Amino acid sequence: MNKYEVLKKYFGYENFREGQERLIDAMLGGRDVLGIMPTGAGKSICYQIPALLFPGITIVISPLISLMKDQVQALNQAGVHAAYINSSLTENQIAKALQLAAAGRYKIVYAAPERLETYGFLDFARQAEISMLTVDEAHCISQWGQDFRPSYLKIVQFLKQLDRRPVVSAFTATATENVKEDIICVLDLHNPEVLVTGFDRKNLYFAVETPRKKDEFTLRYIQEHEGESGIVYCATRKNVDMLYEKLAAQGVAVTKYHAGLHNEERKKNQEDFIYDACPVMVATNAFGMGIDKSNVRYVIHYNMPQSLENYYQEAGRAGRDGEPSECILLYSAQDVAINRFLLDNKEENQDFTEEEAIAVRERDEERLRSMHYYCLTKNCLREYVLRYFGETGNGDCGNCSNCQREYESVDVTETAGKIVSCIREMRGRYGINVVAGTLAGDDRAKLREYGVAAYPSYGSLKDMTEAGIKQIINQMLIEGILEVTKDKYALLRTTDKAEKVLIGEYAVVMKELKKTPVYESDKNDRMRSGVSGSSKKRISDILNSRGLKLFEQLRSLRIEIAKEESVPPYIIFSDKTLTDMCVKAPFNKEEMLRVSGVGENKFERYGERFLQKIDEFTNGVKEKFYFGEWEEMQGNSGKEKGFAEAWNGGGGKAKMPKEDFYLTREQADQFPYAEKYLAAELAEQLNGLRNEERVKKVSGAEIFRRMQAEGYVKEKITDGIWKKSVSPEGEAAGLFIGMRESRKGTEYEDVYYNEKAQRMILEWFVK
Ligand code: ADP
Ligand code: ZN
Repeated sequence: MNKYEVLKKYFGYENFREGQERLIDAMLGGRDVLGIMPTGAGKSICYQIPALLFPGITIVISPLISLMKDQVQALNQAGVHAAYINSSLTENQIAKALQLAAAGRYKIVYAAPERLETYGFLDFARQAEISMLTVDEAHCISQWGQDFRPSYLKIVQFLKQLDRRPVVSAFTATATENVKEDIICVLDLHNPEVLVTGFDRKNLYFAVETPRKKDEFTLRYIQEHEGESGIVYCATRKNVDMLYEKLAAQGVAVTKYHAGLHNEERKKNQEDFIYDACPVMVATNAFGMGIDKSNVRYVIHYNMPQSLENYYQEAGRAGRDGEPSECILLYSAQDVAINRFLLDNKEENQDFTEEEAIAVRERDEERLRSMHYYCLTKNCLREYVLRYFGETGNGDCGNCSNCQREYESVDVTETAGKIVSCIREMRGRYGINVVAGTLAGDDRAKLREYGVAAYPSYGSLKDMTEAGIKQIINQMLIEGILEVTKDKYALLRTTDKAEKVLIGEYAVVMKELKKTPVYESDKNDRMRSGVSGSSKKRISDILNSRGLKLFEQLRSLRIEIAKEESVPPYIIFSDKTLTDMCVKAPFNKEEMLRVSGVGENKFERYGERFLQKIDEFTNGVKEKFYFGEWEEMQGNSGKEKGFAEAWNGGGGKAKMPKEDFYLTREQADQFPYAEKYLAAELAEQLNGLRNEERVKKVSGAEIFRRMQAEGYVKEKITDGIWKKSVSPEGEAAGLFIGMRESRKGTEYEDVYYNEKAQRMILEWFVK
């Protein structure tokens, strides 16, 4: 067998994903490798395929028992002999497993790092032919990360004790330079093939919502996603209990988890969730460690978390199978107060000196602030997160709530000037509430006490609401025109940039949600459309109503089989596989094998039962279970790709599908040429000219991709950071690299388009 045959036979996939092949080829060629890829990118297949092709055994070191169990179950389901050896087994079981392993019963053996130095394990490893040693979650070896595990250092000792050094492969999702160097150095990888793909989780849709009633919003969202699995994170136990009661009262199959529950109950609830008995979990951030449930379709944050680090980790539990999933943060101004309260009451580490304690507190405040700005920004959320973690995005991902909303730009420089004046008059003595109250000319007791009416700025923005003023102040904070003191009082101050605002050299532009008739006529609709911007990728947008019924039946069958085999349902077939099964509605083995994710072994086990279900449902009559727009995917040879594209493809909800972006000649003539635009700015200008009702938006990312395709720009990852460059042809076409300023005031490079390039791009779109 070759690698393609293995991919098809055991995993049911037709094509490799980006990067997988390169690593697999290197391992098969006897080289060490290091793969740094985000969760869901498909790391496991990278080492499992060579493992199946090597003559000997592959040992996989993994830190978490639950992860090992999951992987081994999945492999066994796929027809691969695999086992794990860790402390969840008795000594007898371990001895037995090692005996079988030494006899060559297993192709892949998972082990916890602590095992490596036990005599029994070493004995086995010396007897058997070990072709490869794979280190999963390899960042655990680095003392730089927060997940350092001293036991990982034992791997090196272990390798030295083998007669022949096997291929060593290491995988992680942590991409910092320090960690990467540590892995290569400490593990002593020999001239490894290193693959770093970005931090971006492309299958995740990010949204910030500000519903008036969070509980109603959540309930509604869950009901609209019935049958799908999701997690709702709350900041406090009290919130968890409250929301759990409310959802349960409405008949939602929900369970809960927090540190206040008894061990037994926690364990049971966790299992109910993993096995889809209760697909919805309401929990505090105590939940999630070591949970590898791969078909979580959404993560809702009922409250804003304390940092983007926390947020990205928690939200990242959605879509581990690489399928489209949604991460929705429900923001209210109160969340900031809750978090500050939590920080104030955080247990202090007794070992800290006072200085250290202050530094930690300041860092926490800073993180909270960055998190807060994430909730306020009107720009691309993905870009915001990536930049926070030191990568760059495209400025316009097209798959977050901000990229999908229609905003209008409003120049508020004059108002910003008044805010600057006010803060200067106050000499940085007050925070946002007092400043906004003063500008609005409010007369509440607190303000009277401070005597703010004496400031010349008092009431200078009295036509505005305090909330409106605060929005602009926040925007100014994000842009670095204002800053706040690092302590918890967060007193407002102006920066050097403020001067430029006063003299009109720097324009402050706010994005405001465009009011369309739909939004005004139906508030609920607005709520829905806010979220379901991404809904075009949901199952309900691919399958028609009959298709959804079939899907339900297949899902029940999946749960039934999962119970019989005592494995989680997602290990039988993924959601995507079931969806594709509805689309292809196979009637025989040959057709069934064409479904993405159905390999031969899975077919042998369950194929007939699923075929029978489909036969019952259709009475043997061919029928179309999906919307028309997906017709073209039938007969698509590149299965994984064809399906993924369709899945990610255009909106299925609208009766009249919108056309891809174009402009008429008359519209194009209105284009406001400028000295330079970024791709995202260019897209915004272009979108402003189109016929909104009939024509889809174009995104900066699309423009950029086209530039890539033309060979005008290149994007390369060095050290985990995307860098863009312009080719000579690109320069000739009018593209150039310029500096941009980030939120934190640091500069970075991006591609600009001059007037010549703007004309060229415009012409592409003229119909
Ligand atoms: P990671 O370990 O990087 O988080 P996994 O190895 O768990 O990711 O893979 C995520 C999902 O993607 C799994 O459901 C896996 O079966 C699927 N997958 C991996 N490679 C491919 C591929 N080439 N084609 C289709 N699906 C794939
Ligand atoms: Zn975006």
